[in-house]
Amino acid sequence: MPILKKTDLFHVLFDAFRQHTNSVYFEGGDNPYRFCLEDKFVTVFIGNIHPARRRDVDEYRIQCPGNLPKTLHNKKMSGDTVFVLGFSEDVHAFSVWDPDKFLVRNPGVRRFSVYTRLSGMKESISRGLSTYTDTNGQNVIMFRPDLLGLYVENSTALHQARDRTLRRIAEFYGDIQSGQQTPVPSIKINRRKIRLTRTQYSRSPKFRQDVLRAYGHKCAMCEIQLDLVDAAHIVPHAHPKGSDTIGNGLALCVLHHRSFDTGLLYVQYVKNQGDYLIHMNPARVLHLQKMGRADGLQSYEKQLRSKLFLPDNYDLFPAPDNLTLGNTARGVFLEG
Ligand SMILES: [Zn+2]
Repeated sequence: MPILKKTDLFHVLFDAFRQHTNSVYFEGGDNPYRFCLEDKFVTVFIGNIHPARRRDVDEYRIQCPGNLPKTLHNKKMSGDTVFVLGFSEDVHAFSVWDPDKFLVRNPGVRRFSVYTRLSGMKESISRGLSTYTDTNGQNVIMFRPDLLGLYVENSTALHQARDRTLRRIAEFYGDIQSGQQTPVPSIKINRRKIRLTRTQYSRSPKFRQDVLRAYGHKCAMCEIQLDLVDAAHIVPHAHPKGSDTIGNGLALCVLHHRSFDTGLLYVQYVKNQGDYLIHMNPARVLHLQKMGRADGLQSYEKQLRSKLFLPDNYDLFPAPDNLTLGNTARGVFLEG
């Protein structure tokens, strides 16, 4: 069974956040990672779920560093939502442990384990969510990656929910395919309504117009027009510095927009040459290869140009600082 590296887990996590909302960026940290998700800061530790190697073959676990509860506690005190997440590559499901129970345990050990169930993770693939209460009264929730947003928005309520309620939610979400717009179900836990919203930006029509005009409606990476071109933000719009200015914009076709947003491609400004170089992000490529989702890479790479196509007017060029900040916010420079 392959064990994912830290960067792979980072990509799994970031991809799951992006399935939930386009209002997300990476703020910093090195597992725990800190993201800004719809104006809310979230600090997440993520670990590989693997067999606990005990007699019970259904028992799986992740290992956590001993100082994790303290780190998370401090983040929580400063206002972050914190949680501990496990990912099983085999099942392609998450498990998450109640952060409040987590924060008080195991002082002074070098590392420790928290446990989940293989059967529950498998069940969550078809049903959306599954739950398990361990011998310490720790309420573990297992869910599909596309439901990470549901968890983040409702974590407290979900950990307090009784099994029966979670099953109702599971029945509801079991039918929902990822990426689909999700209606709000009328399920309440302790008078709190369980909800899932997906934030889509109201795009500024002026920003779009300005960027497309500057680039002559051509993709800055492949020069295609055909009305397949959009105005992309270099520093993500959700970021405080993600402005609607031309220096923070790039005209990109659908393919290259998506490649840019997921950090598969990034742009480097080389000052002494005045060049804007297009690079593949090796960490993202490695991750996709590991997940078995790298078909077409060769022809994709072959068609890739080395430099950006830019507007005629220098004033309309992307601002170098924005490129650097945008790369960081997409986790481009993380190494495993
Ligand atoms: Zn393109």
